[in-house]
Amino acid sequence: MSNNYKQPKSDIIIIGAGIMGLSVAYHLLEADPKLSIVILEKEKLLGLGSTGKCTGGIRYQFSSPLLRRLSLLSRDFFLNFEPAFDTPIWYRERGYLMLAPNEALWADLKLSAGQAESEGIPVKILSQEELEKNFPYLQQDHYLGGTFGQWDAYADPYAVLAALYASVRRRGVPVHFQCEARKILRQGNAVSGVETTQGVFHSPIIVNAAGPYAAGLAGAAGIVLPVQSFRRQVYVCTNPKDVPAAAPLIVDLATGFYLHQEASAKTVLLGGTDKDTRPGLDEVVDKSLAEDFFLAAMEAIPSALNIKWLRTYTGIRDQTPDYLPIIGEAADLKGFYLTSGFSGHGFMHASAVGRIVSDLILKGRCEQIEGNLFYPQRFAKASPQESLVF
Ligand SMILES: Cc1cc2nc3c(=O)[nH]c(=O)nc-3n(C[C@H](O)[C@H](O)[C@H](O)COP(=O)(O)OP(=O)(O)OC[C@H]3O[C@@H](n4cnc5c(N)ncnc54)[C@H](O)[C@@H]3O)c2cc1C
Repeated sequence: MSNNYKQPKSDIIIIGAGIMGLSVAYHLLEADPKLSIVILEKEKLLGLGSTGKCTGGIRYQFSSPLLRRLSLLSRDFFLNFEPAFDTPIWYRERGYLMLAPNEALWADLKLSAGQAESEGIPVKILSQEELEKNFPYLQQDHYLGGTFGQWDAYADPYAVLAALYASVRRRGVPVHFQCEARKILRQGNAVSGVETTQGVFHSPIIVNAAGPYAAGLAGAAGIVLPVQSFRRQVYVCTNPKDVPAAAPLIVDLATGFYLHQEASAKTVLLGGTDKDTRPGLDEVVDKSLAEDFFLAAMEAIPSALNIKWLRTYTGIRDQTPDYLPIIGEAADLKGFYLTSGFSGHGFMHASAVGRIVSDLILKGRCEQIEGNLFYPQRFAKASPQESLVF
């Protein structure tokens, strides 16, 4: 199709059919089924962005009250998902076990656990002795203590994505695949449309849900976002022999190493030690990182020495300096809504974010959370950053 082709005007255009774009569309339609919404997706298939690489973890243990709030706002979505969408997503509350090998992290963990408890989130603080008794496969004498979040869970990100896609398609939303947004069109200080590889789409409201590409797209419209994309390698391995089936997600907060057991308990997804690697959008696997990675794995779980390394893949995470997302209307471009910088939390927070963006568009305000806190303008002054990062 020629890229001069003029598409019919719609109420709202969403760029990106990842979990964010589809969640925004879903919540908009829940609020007003009559809206005409169009979704533009540069890839040929669903799930080729970050959402398809996501491990599927859902947690409430954060040092930032704002991130805990986004988790709480998303809780009912996951709890009610299977009956509401009539589709399995393998949601399981197996908990996250967060481990502190030094005093500073141990103090952070205990402080965050106390704050979470006061908000009604169940988190247990475990001493070194309790850890060693309950999790004997962990390195002995290595961790000062840990915390266990009982609501922390996992679900299948692709199953959630596919169900949201089916839901918005059933309600008449066209999703244009192989349709790359190239330029945001403006009239004065407001958006008017998007130039794409399939022609020009017009709308007074555009939601930029392009995941790791969102900052670049915003930049092309003159909006500078302090967001960087980082490559994250995931090692698919056999389950360490002494880690029982249905283990919690285990994370060493010093190295970033995590173990996520898959539903079958035969394989695990390991990763996390590359959180400070160079920024970039290329999804190549860097084998030179494997040695340090497996050393960190054995430091946490000694029996990792004997696991079988089956394969490795790379996904991209978009990150802000304070690890909190950017959500809301761009200050200098009316009608241009941003969803960006979700770090490793975009899947678990997609429902809350979809609802917030829908409220901001339709009501001009958001009742569940102070939306201003997620605006990019916050970076002009120092703000506290999330510390439980991996
Ligand atoms: C290895 C890994 C593990 C993770 N684990 C977790 C976890 O356990 N829990 C959790 O909550 N989060 C996790 N995350 C983060 C989570 O996956 C992301 O935050 C989330 O998927 C972001 O969703 P999105 O819709 O913003 O981005 P995406 O899923 O990338 O969707 C954006 C879409 O926009 C499309 N697009 C981009 N540019 C354009 C354009 N110009 N025109 C049209 N379309 C465009 C892309 O093709 C893509 O389909 C993980 C991420 C990675 C990489």
